Amino acid sequence: MNIAVYPGSFDPVTLGHIDIIERSCKVFDKVIVAVMFNKNKKPMFDVGERMALLVDATKHLENVVIDSHEGLLIDYLIERDIKVLVKGLRAISDFEAEFQMASVNRKLCSDIETVFIMTRTEYMYLSSSIVKEVASFNGDISDFVTEEVKMAVESKLGGKHERD
Ligand code: ADP
Repeated sequence: MNIAVYPGSFDPVTLGHIDIIERSCKVFDKVIVAVMFNKNKKPMFDVGERMALLVDATKHLENVVIDSHEGLLIDYLIERDIKVLVKGLRAISDFEAEFQMASVNRKLCSDIETVFIMTRTEYMYLSSSIVKEVASFNGDISDFVTEEVKMAVESKLGGKHERD
């Protein structure tokens, strides 16, 4: 079986992430979406909530598994004997960090290959942080996330209040 891991914070999952997952599912037999977490970071959603939103957002896909991992990503791959990582690439600014990560991962484990999937142009500006920022100023995030995620973000922010 051709298995790939798609790692990220997914705090929360956006339509940009879902697009990468859908496209990865056409290339690999199974895609494991790994929610990476770090106890020292303060995300908007805890790991369980992030996983639940991902399960909902990918329920139309048969070959996706949602999992989580704390610590070094390559340990997750080595433990499961998985050799492929999927990453989404947005702008040139993503390239530098991703190039560094892919090189380090390959140095740590020479068997692992990182496969990059280019964003769709309509999602190239989209990130979880921009979604949270727009929502925090009462902006409409309907074009960026699923309805479920929109409601979850708004409820974290204490409910959407009326604009002046
Ligand atoms: P972010 O907070 O920037 O959305 P994540 O850690 O959740 O970051 O992202 C996980 C992976 O998804 C990374 O490989 C990232 O480059 C990719 N990704 C995030 N948003 C998009 C997008 N809009 N289009 C393509 N890839 C994306």
